[in-house]
Amino acid sequence: SAMRQPQNEGLLSYGPGSPEKAELKKKLQELQKREIEIPLIIGGKEVRTGKMGECIIPHKKDHILAKYHMAGEKEITMAIEAAHQAKDEWERMPWEHRASVFLRAAELLSGPWRSTLNAATMLGQSKTAHQAEIDSACELIDFLRFNAYYLSQIIEEQPNSTQDSWNRLQYRPLEGFVFAVTPFNFTAIGGNLPTAPAIVGNTVVWKPASTAVYSNYFVMKLLQEAGLPDGVINFVPGSGSKVGNMVLDDPALAGIHFTGSTQVFGDIWRKVAGNLRQYKAYPRIVGETGGKNFVLAHDSADVGALATGLVRGAFEYQGQKCSAASRAYIPQSIWPSVKERLLDDVASIKMGDVENFSNFMSAVIDGNAFRSIRSFIDYAQESPEAEILCGGQSDDREGYFIRPTVIVTTNPRFRTMEEEIFGPVLTVYVYPDQEFEKTVAQCTETSPYGLTGAVFARDRRVVCNLEKQLNHAASNFYINDKPTGAVVGQQPFGGSRASGTNDKAGSKLNLYRWINPRTIKENL
Ligand code: GLU
Repeated sequence: SAMRQPQNEGLLSYGPGSPEKAELKKKLQELQKREIEIPLIIGGKEVRTGKMGECIIPHKKDHILAKYHMAGEKEITMAIEAAHQAKDEWERMPWEHRASVFLRAAELLSGPWRSTLNAATMLGQSKTAHQAEIDSACELIDFLRFNAYYLSQIIEEQPNSTQDSWNRLQYRPLEGFVFAVTPFNFTAIGGNLPTAPAIVGNTVVWKPASTAVYSNYFVMKLLQEAGLPDGVINFVPGSGSKVGNMVLDDPALAGIHFTGSTQVFGDIWRKVAGNLRQYKAYPRIVGETGGKNFVLAHDSADVGALATGLVRGAFEYQGQKCSAASRAYIPQSIWPSVKERLLDDVASIKMGDVENFSNFMSAVIDGNAFRSIRSFIDYAQESPEAEILCGGQSDDREGYFIRPTVIVTTNPRFRTMEEEIFGPVLTVYVYPDQEFEKTVAQCTETSPYGLTGAVFARDRRVVCNLEKQLNHAASNFYINDKPTGAVVGQQPFGGSRASGTNDKAGSKLNLYRWINPRTIKENL
């Protein structure tokens, strides 16, 4: 029978003198004391290739946390085979037994594993304690619990029967294996993309992002400790193109659960299209990609709430959330006061090592990200159409630090208003108040994406209109709030248009994609 709807995992505050803070500090030290070696995990066994990659601390880039083994052709074949071997038993297991593995993982993470996974996320991905807590603790726990709950509801959805016929829907998993490809920016996504298909009865080949192998390895170990049977999820770090190309060529590929760049997602679709004739079934493709998320202010906006929304939306986790605010439209009449607030807030932002809990920001993920973000700032610095209002400085001597940067442009189609930067850079276009309607239209028209967006207005009639007018501009739409920080069970998350297939993570809608239903009619 259906489970009770779970409560969201409560947030720990890590305030001064709190026991959780002391515990987390201890873990941070422990993990840095010892470099570990990370094997692949295939069919439940550790596999070593000797071809090594490195996990470093982005804010202390000379510190190596781990060396990890990278999958070669042989290991990719092994992982697909292991997923195949594990499938039958896993799929036939009552769903409650499968769910119990993930519910157990949630309990462990809520308890003894919490500080370990948070510390691993803080060090490996340069997240502050708060950003780690909402990701690798709360969101991952919620994904695990809510997916079990959603599955329990789905299973109960049955067609009508009549006097003459008994009708049933069987919620089978897909025929074949699922390929999970996960990003660096959320450990929770690393955990959700393989486990959501698995809870339904699928088995999975999981390729984590190279820059998040460290925390993702702990996720894999947590799942094993929770009783995940061998081969249900196979952990294969390695080169994206190498692993991807081989896995996508396999005839048993039945589904892809992806979060990453728009470009790689396009490559996946093309590759799948080219292979279509050799697959047993049309692979389900579920993907979450980039965004160019807007904040649109009306002149009735609450200036304080707007400034806070901009700063938190654009700069938390160094702007490296797919959902981050990256272009803002502000009316001229309130711009002077918004600007003052922005300058004050940004000037007070402390940045540095995540071990200092008063820092609000830390480093961006790696050298490539650093250089790419830097090039957008340089471009704006040199352009007559833009001015750097604040920030613009960067320093990669010890770690990949970029100060929170606000660009103001006179051109609503300026390059940094349109291209995804994935870093702590917000571009503002100040519009004449009388051009509000034109600006609303620009919000949708100047971007191919449809991920998140926020509007700020106190005039409720304006809010209602905006909700309609911006129908396709964002599939996670926020009113008087920042566009980041969706909570499982509260704001199902996903983008449309160029931002993804919009199969809302952490909702029933996502789980349906991993099901291959069979209808059975039996005459009575
Ligand atoms: N769910 C996250 C949020 O709402 C974003 C996830 C992502 O970056 O893909 O902020």
